Amino acid sequence: MPESQLEGAKESLIKRLKDRGYLSSASVEKAFRRVPREEFVLPSTRGGAYRDSPMSIGHGQTISAPHMCAIMCESLDLKPGMKILEIGAGSGYHAALCGDIVGELGDQGPGHVYTIEIVEELIEFGRANLERTGYADRVTLIQADGGKGLPEHAPFDRIFVAAAAPRVPPPLIEQLKPGGIMLIPVGSRGFYQELMMVQKDLTGKTTTRRWGGVAFVPLRGDYGH
Ligand code: SAH
Repeated sequence: MPESQLEGAKESLIKRLKDRGYLSSASVEKAFRRVPREEFVLPSTRGGAYRDSPMSIGHGQTISAPHMCAIMCESLDLKPGMKILEIGAGSGYHAALCGDIVGELGDQGPGHVYTIEIVEELIEFGRANLERTGYADRVTLIQADGGKGLPEHAPFDRIFVAAAAPRVPPPLIEQLKPGGIMLIPVGSRGFYQELMMVQKDLTGKTTTRRWGGVAFVPLRGDYGH
């Protein structure tokens, strides 16, 4: 598909996401415009990069659907300067969207996204995508079991888990900053889980709210299925 057609497909997708209420803030809309999703899918599926559906990235894993990325970015209320932890880097696309927003200068300097992937074969794919698109300076991709978090860079303003866990891993709650927000799909290995929003107040007390039904691949590792 020629680049001009991809640009057209991207604009139609952004309009549809806005019309349906998934995209509501200027910063998330700008990130959707700037991050080229076609660079994060398999070359053979490049022409379909702006369909609103998850797509295979090999090794039994998927890049999330654009509307899911929009829901995540909007619900996380991302701001320039924030430090973010993502579990499940996959293609690196969602991390790049977050990096586009938080990597801008905040009060304390530019923010950063740490994203963890457990599947070895996907590490190079994600890293190469981030480098080629210019996001490697604001997004660091690490190979590890994300259920344990990343204590050496904690605490985080926001944590986002892109795979479904049987319950919220305690290390992630610990590594959330007071005032922080975590989004995590919790439920079975099947096709339905509940997206949970965990908020930690300034005294360190957490409250959990259900956001709604979602479908994510299962979390692996010590805190996974
Ligand atoms: N955010 C990705 C989509 C991720 S799909 C994107 O934008 O493309 C979920 C990913 O979580 C898969 O790549 C899977 O391998 C990874 N994953 C599963 N369990 C994990 C764990 N314990 N630690 C880190 N990554 C994990």
